[in-house]
Amino acid sequence: MNRPLVIANAPLSSWLTDGLSARYDLRPASDPGANEAQVLVTTGIHGADAAAMDALPALKLIAVHGVGYDKVDMAHARSRGISVTNTPDVLTDDVADMAVALVLATARRIAESDAYVRAGRWGRDPLPPLGRKVTGARFGILGLGRIGSAIARRLEPFSPHIAYHSRNRVEGSAYAYAETAEALAEQCDFLIVATSGGQGTQHLVDAAVLAALGPEGILINIGRGSTVDEAALVDALVNGRLGGAGLDVFDDEPRVPDSLLALDNVVLQPHQGSATVETRRAMADLVIANVDAFFGGKELPTPV
Ligand code: NAP
Repeated sequence: MNRPLVIANAPLSSWLTDGLSARYDLRPASDPGANEAQVLVTTGIHGADAAAMDALPALKLIAVHGVGYDKVDMAHARSRGISVTNTPDVLTDDVADMAVALVLATARRIAESDAYVRAGRWGRDPLPPLGRKVTGARFGILGLGRIGSAIARRLEPFSPHIAYHSRNRVEGSAYAYAETAEALAEQCDFLIVATSGGQGTQHLVDAAVLAALGPEGILINIGRGSTVDEAALVDALVNGRLGGAGLDVFDDEPRVPDSLLALDNVVLQPHQGSATVETRRAMADLVIANVDAFFGGKELPTPV
């Protein structure tokens, strides 16, 4: 019997490729027979626009490897009756760990100091500038969802000053609620972006929010690059109106503005929030579970 066809339109982990290939006829989107596929596997970074969906007339399921589905045209998927699944929860801890790593690395100038030692400058040149104290600092979480909440829990031992902003107040939360992103930035030293991406959060962190964060404030972004006005961010950093930034995500990945590369007070990561062996395995398993459920006629484990 022919194995069901599954199309991939992005590079996948070896666990996902092997797992899918063991069960299905896995082919790239460029394959001539792709248009008969009912299932498309993609990543949070790649996604599927209307044209990608319409190239697959039989498409019934888009299984996203990642929690963010801002690169999937959800309205188009809905209009065509295509289900979309993602991989929530299994990556929450890793992304929250990355946010805390960026808080510490940026505040304590870890990357800059590492480069200083490697370059043989220790003992020859003045030491790097002093960092900023993390213990007792005021933290603002933009987007107290699964990942934002996990970041807040990790920061509790550092400081009692944790506030958040999202469109809705989180029922029962002990953290102070700020009505706007700007109001949150005004009352914190570290603003940590953990919202979902897409149109709803496009440039939510704009020049006004960065001004409210101020010349000693530090911006951390592990959400999506589109949520921060990158030109305003670069301008604030270059002109000393922002203290520093720790960034895992960018507006036009993998392109990073040259002006950011030249700055000592930023720590840059190539979108590595969920990049551990354990989590990438778990994400692959969850994608496969969704595809298996679709072909088995069962309820999808993690629909969007
Ligand atoms: P989630 O539980 O859905 O949380 C999203 C949060 O964003 C919620 O608190 C939501 O609250 C808030 N939000 C949405 N739109 C908003 C708006 N316009 N203004 C203010 N707040 C808004 O999702 P999650 O699992 O925590 O994941 C969050 C995001 O992290 C993902 O969507 C993805 O883009 C990103 N991510 C990045 C990596 C990485 O490698 N760096 C890995 C995984 C995920 P309200 O609905 O109340 O506004």
